[in-house]
Amino acid sequence: MRLTFYGAVESVTGSCFLLETAQGKLLIDCGMHQGERMCSTKNLEAFGFTPNAVDAVVVTHAHFDHTGRLPDVVKQGFAGKIFMTPPTKALTQLVLEDSVRVMAENARKCGDPVVYEKEDVPAMLERVVAVPYHHPTVVLPGVTVEFFNAGHILGSSFIRVSVKDAGEQKTFIFSGDIGNDDVPILPDTEARPDADVLICESTYGAKDHDPVAVREPMLADFVKKVIGRNGTVIIPAFSVERTQEVLFALDQLFQRGEITVVPIYLDSPLAIRATELYRFFHDYLSFTHPAAPGKDDDWFRFPSLTETLSTDASKVINDDVRPKVIIAGNGMMTGGRVLHHLARYISDEKSGVLIIGYQADHTLGRKIQNGVTEVNIYGEKHTVRAEVLTIDAFSAHGDQKKLTTFVRGSGVLPKRVFLVHGEGGIKEAFAEHLRTELGIAAEIPRVTQTYEL
Ligand SMILES: [Zn+2]
Repeated sequence: MRLTFYGAVESVTGSCFLLETAQGKLLIDCGMHQGERMCSTKNLEAFGFTPNAVDAVVVTHAHFDHTGRLPDVVKQGFAGKIFMTPPTKALTQLVLEDSVRVMAENARKCGDPVVYEKEDVPAMLERVVAVPYHHPTVVLPGVTVEFFNAGHILGSSFIRVSVKDAGEQKTFIFSGDIGNDDVPILPDTEARPDADVLICESTYGAKDHDPVAVREPMLADFVKKVIGRNGTVIIPAFSVERTQEVLFALDQLFQRGEITVVPIYLDSPLAIRATELYRFFHDYLSFTHPAAPGKDDDWFRFPSLTETLSTDASKVINDDVRPKVIIAGNGMMTGGRVLHHLARYISDEKSGVLIIGYQADHTLGRKIQNGVTEVNIYGEKHTVRAEVLTIDAFSAHGDQKKLTTFVRGSGVLPKRVFLVHGEGGIKEAFAEHLRTELGIAAEIPRVTQTYEL
């Protein structure tokens, strides 16, 4: 068996791995590389493998850096089946349809590359087989996959791949992205089953987050402070998961009377539609955490919330001079409606930008998070005067402690552990931590590196 790492190796995005057995080739995730722009030109490069030689694809979850190149791999000749959980299928459709729109807009405005067109998305979706958690499924001769709940976003999974190859048997676990603990709207990550080989993300492998319990008080304090000085709070939010968690937190704060009722705008068609899917797939959400309301309540809607689906509805926000909260995508501020709001409020010292998600290197979000004094938005320079706060307790990723628990599993350690999804130095720091904590010699693959296993 051979495993090759094609993406999410020297950066966090572009997740893509190829497992080859004597009887077939299985691709695990096919994500977009993300950088300064939504699509870096890296996505125009050849895959490194031959798409029509791949026999099946499995997908861990719907985030763009795990699904973004699926239409492209089909366009380039892949003709097999693509396996993912039912919510992942529904969310992936939304995410990819939205990406087509954003790519077209970025191509028009900035000459950015278009990796695929509108019609490529349904052509890819025709190949998808939706498989719920805990349904072992044969995807290739001798290769069975099973999805386990990763607790990262709705429908997210880590995948166990069991391979029988020339009399040899091996199990692999691909972590996808592992979620944070105690997220109010999601069940916790399942315990990792035993496996021979673990491919583990390490996005936050070098640090621990504040506990989830501080997210609501910190959110309340920031909103109160900015609203109190007649400012506007901008929350750049990932449309899938973080937005629903913020809506849930605001709903809780309003219900408990901890913040005064102010207008809240959800200004993202993708987030509005994704929230509908969260309602539809509510059986995949958690109803067990203490903060969770009854099953019949709408977790994501409250009277002061306005959802602005159309562009015209969105423009109304500009006329609202009241203190307010605007939740808009995209989360790393590399495109989407949030840019218009940033252009309007980033130089206003009364206003605030609340960062609640991972900001990849070279993104506008990372620059603002790092405290730059001037930013460029749609070709215009803006001085940063708004207050910027990061609440990492909203992270959808497990921290070092959580990832270590995942690697430890039942205590039967994998024979080989490969670390992926971590920026410069983080994978190495996590590897060192695993060495001292668990006595594991984790390996850090390079791009296109192949291992015989
Ligand atoms: Zn993810």
